[in-house]
Amino acid sequence: MEGFPDQQVAERLRRKVVVLTGAGISAASGLPTFRGSDGLYEGLNPYELASPEAFAARPVTVWNWYLMRIHQGKHAEPNAAHYALADLENMAERCTLITSNVDPLHERAGSKRVFKLHGNILETRCTHCLTVKDLDVAALPDRYEKADVPLCSCGGRLRPNVVWFGEYPNQKAIRAAEEELPKADLVLEVGTSGVVSYGFTELAVSFGVPVVRVNPEGQAGPGVLLVRQPAEEVLAAMIAAVQNPT
Ligand SMILES: [Zn+2]
Repeated sequence: MEGFPDQQVAERLRRKVVVLTGAGISAASGLPTFRGSDGLYEGLNPYELASPEAFAARPVTVWNWYLMRIHQGKHAEPNAAHYALADLENMAERCTLITSNVDPLHERAGSKRVFKLHGNILETRCTHCLTVKDLDVAALPDRYEKADVPLCSCGGRLRPNVVWFGEYPNQKAIRAAEEELPKADLVLEVGTSGVVSYGFTELAVSFGVPVVRVNPEGQAGPGVLLVRQPAEEVLAAMIAAVQNPT
């Protein structure tokens, strides 16, 4: 986009910024989004895999789907968009990143204030005592057989610590959004198919906070400035322009 960011956006990027990210930002790192017709696993779509009912009915299949995704993700590297957002956190007065992604790419790129609406694929949670633990990825098998679905020391079944269909999003992340959005100087919305449904952008607009939407397939709207380019191409240039004004 010619002449972007303009001076007003550039100044606001140095102040209080809320960043919203979704699947689009990780797609450029080679992580599939599991949407559309290529999202099937053993003939099942995500609705038949990512729900408490699915886990109760077929825990081994659900775990094996997550194991496949975890192993695929081991080799995924953050892309230029993830790194640009980590730079933004260092540059801005306050930067709050709220993501619907369960992968660790923001953290690997160096972002610190990350709130994960849909949980973390590299953690387990006990279905009985609710204890959350980090997964030891190096020790994970490629797939589980029926007998070895992991159990907690309390005897409860362990599940991936991610938010499934029909479940509430992470409340800490929701609170962060509700607290930070009204007082933000700018909201940056990046590839957010997964966070759109929470109405965060509309909330920001209702408080008069300008929103910049970086999305090659996005649409502009009232109070929303559209940058119709891939985040991995435009974000680094945007942050560099703010760091080194001409
Ligand atoms: Zn337990």
